[in-house]
Amino acid sequence: METFGHVIDGQETSDGATFASVDPWTRQPWSDVALGGAAEADRAVTSARRAFDEGPWSRMGYGERGALLHKLADLIESHADELAAADSHDMGKPVADAKGKDVPRTAQNFRFFADHARLATAETLPMDTGHHTYTRYEPAGVVAAIAPWNFPLMLESWKVAPALAWGNTVVLKPAEDSPASATILARLALEAGIPPGVLNVLHGYGPGSAGEALTRDKRVDRITFTGESATGRVITEAAARNLTPVSLELGGKGANLVFDDADLDASVDWSIRAIFTNAGQVCLAGSRLYVQRGILDEFLDRFVAAAEAMVIGDPREASTQIGPLASETHWRKVTGYLSEPAGKVLTGGTGDGWVVRPTVIVDAPADSAIQREEVFGPVVTVTPFDTEDEAVSAANDSPYGLNAMVFTENLSRAHRVAARLRAGTIWTNCFFIRDLRAPFGGFADSGWGREGGNFSREFFTEPKAVVMAI
Ligand code: NAD
Repeated sequence: METFGHVIDGQETSDGATFASVDPWTRQPWSDVALGGAAEADRAVTSARRAFDEGPWSRMGYGERGALLHKLADLIESHADELAAADSHDMGKPVADAKGKDVPRTAQNFRFFADHARLATAETLPMDTGHHTYTRYEPAGVVAAIAPWNFPLMLESWKVAPALAWGNTVVLKPAEDSPASATILARLALEAGIPPGVLNVLHGYGPGSAGEALTRDKRVDRITFTGESATGRVITEAAARNLTPVSLELGGKGANLVFDDADLDASVDWSIRAIFTNAGQVCLAGSRLYVQRGILDEFLDRFVAAAEAMVIGDPREASTQIGPLASETHWRKVTGYLSEPAGKVLTGGTGDGWVVRPTVIVDAPADSAIQREEVFGPVVTVTPFDTEDEAVSAANDSPYGLNAMVFTENLSRAHRVAARLRAGTIWTNCFFIRDLRAPFGGFADSGWGREGGNFSREFFTEPKAVVMAI
């Protein structure tokens, strides 16, 4: 079995308690992982605090820091096999996806945020009084980054890369279901020459464990969290005691609107990807599909055929599109929605082991749990609509507001509907395309704040006004 330790102050340690990470395809433990609690969280924050206060990282020029982050990106690419295998063993993701998408995006994230910080400009305000005010973006300090298991490495890089690029030090707490790639990332950061204590990795659970201890530590200056909305509430309460700013990327229940003037081939293809990518374990999944009545039958015929054609199996096989769900607990949660489904199941259901087959449900009432709650599996409800107003109201009738998709060839409608949808990202005739300069985040129960470009700068820095008499 492989071993993955905490990485604190440049040292990998796993001498205390450990837990097993179970491969959801074999359903056997594949690695032994250090289990942190309050004591380890304290050591990790002490290490990050010292590295921030004593430097050199927090005082280094953007170019020098950026060069080290680029070196880390190179190492991520040259260790693609190891990183992809780690995420796949931990949470069942097809290796082809991890290696072809997640790892390259991770490297790109480090390069983008290194360059963004280096090239960023700051305001200078000549004042009528003869004074001159300019802005400095000072690093915030110690960042606690708490991550989920669905895109382990890639989502961690959305937090770690901008935090480091802006001169902060980090304690990263990966999800207990997907710990391995975070330790590998920290090993590579040290190999790249990033000083000890700048990127620390702390393993463990959330409540009463490493995660909770991090969120209660006064020496932490920012908490960036991605995970469930319920966890976001608990973390925000803990952070409020110390007035620690929190950024929250939470759950979703994406509405996908297909109008009768849409390109049918393209909308079926994108809608399949929107719900079944990563076995539906995507916060942005298009899990509520609304189809205009005139094309409903033809759309459904094609959509169901495409769902049934998906290749399910061993995540290590190159052809596999759908692997098992991430854990037994999660598989029980998802199959719980299917045991007495509201509505009629056209295709899908449980598979072998912890697999759920691509599942398409029609006639589920708008107020049923499967239409309102985040299932986080390969399960989609399909509901017809007649008018644009009806489609927009149905889409907006959700506690979540992370994203929505609109399929139409009518240009005016595309813009009109995008403006009316209450969600942080609207994809028109596409899905999952992201410009790292754009805001990313959600309305309502989907979160607080935005990540990306200057939005990440706002969160990971303390802007300071310097006023000078000329
Ligand atoms: P989760 O909330 O169960 O756990 C996320 C992380 O929080 C884990 O590292 C966990 O150990 C930690 N944690 C749990 N309780 C904690 C506590 N009290 N204090 C501190 N840390 C705690 O989420 P998950 O099941 O790992 O991930 C799936 C969820 O993440 C889904 O709801 C999904 O929509 C959401 N998600 C959102 C985005 C986004 O960008 N909005 C992206 C991916 C996933």
